[in-house]
Amino acid sequence: MKEFNSIRELVTQAEAHHCPISRIVIDNQMNYLKKTEDELHLQMDEHLQVMWEAYQNGYQEMKSPSGLSGGMAKKYHQSTVSGKLLSPLTKEAITIALSISEYNACMGRIVAAPTAGSCGILPAVLFSVSNTFQLERKKTLDALFHSAGVCMVIAKNASISGAEGGCQAECGSAAAAAASAAVELMGGTPEMSAHACALALKFVMGLVCDPVAGLVEVPCVKRNASGAVNALTAAELALSGIESAIPVDEVIEAMKNVGTMMPCALKETAQGGLAATKTARKISERVHGR
Ligand code: SF4
Repeated sequence: MKEFNSIRELVTQAEAHHCPISRIVIDNQMNYLKKTEDELHLQMDEHLQVMWEAYQNGYQEMKSPSGLSGGMAKKYHQSTVSGKLLSPLTKEAITIALSISEYNACMGRIVAAPTAGSCGILPAVLFSVSNTFQLERKKTLDALFHSAGVCMVIAKNASISGAEGGCQAECGSAAAAAASAAVELMGGTPEMSAHACALALKFVMGLVCDPVAGLVEVPCVKRNASGAVNALTAAELALSGIESAIPVDEVIEAMKNVGTMMPCALKETAQGGLAATKTARKISERVHGR
C-alpha cells in the first residue's frame, strides 16, 4: 500500500472527493496493488472471517499454556445475563475483545490488528457496532480498510509496537483506528473520524507496556476490553460533535515523543510496571522457573 503521510491527508482527500475515508484507502490499494475492488474485498473478507472465528473459538472453555488466560470472556458474558448492564453494545464489545485476546493467548489464529497484543479491540468495536445496528457486511469490510489507513499513518509517524512506544502505541493505536472507523460506520464525517482517532489516543497517552512474565496475557487481555470501550467512548464523543483540542496528527506526534521518553523497563521488557510487582515475579517463577 502506498503510504499516507497524515490523518489530515486522509481527511482532506475524503472531503475533496465527498467520500468516506475507507473509499480513499480502497482506491489507494487498488492503484498500488493493481487489484479490483472485489478482489480487495474478498481478501479483507477472509480477515474478517478469521476475526469472527477467533471470537467464537475464544469464547469456549480453554486455558493458555501459562494458565493465566482463558474463560474470562464466557465468565464476563454470563455474569451480564442478569440484565445489569450499562449498555448492551458495550457488553458485546467487551465479550468479543476478551474472547479474541484470550484466543491469542491460547495460541489460536487471530488477525493482528494492528498487532497480536491488541488483536481484540478492532473486531470488538466493528462487530459490536455492526451487529447492534445490523449493518451490511460490506460496510464492516470498508471500516477495516478505514482502520488500515489510520494504522498506516500511526505506524509511519509514531509506532504501533509496545516494544517501541509502550501500550499507548499498541492498544492505543488499535483503539484509535477502531474509533475512527466506528464513526464512519455510524455515518459520521471524516473530520469526526479524525477527532475520534485523536481522542482514543489521548485517553491512553503514556500507557506503559508491562506484560507479566513477558507473556501477552496480563494485563494485555483486559486492556483489550478497555481498549474497545475507549474506542467506543471516543467515537461517541466525536459523533456528538465534541472535538479534540489537539489536532490528531499532533496527538500522534506527542504519542511518539512520549514513547521515546519512556524507559526500556516499560517497553515490553517485563522489567517495570505491573511486571515488576511481587505477584508478577511469583507468576513469572511459576511459569518460567527460577
Ligand atoms: S502491555 Fe505490552 S504486550 Fe500487553 S497489550 Fe500492551 S503493548 Fe501489548
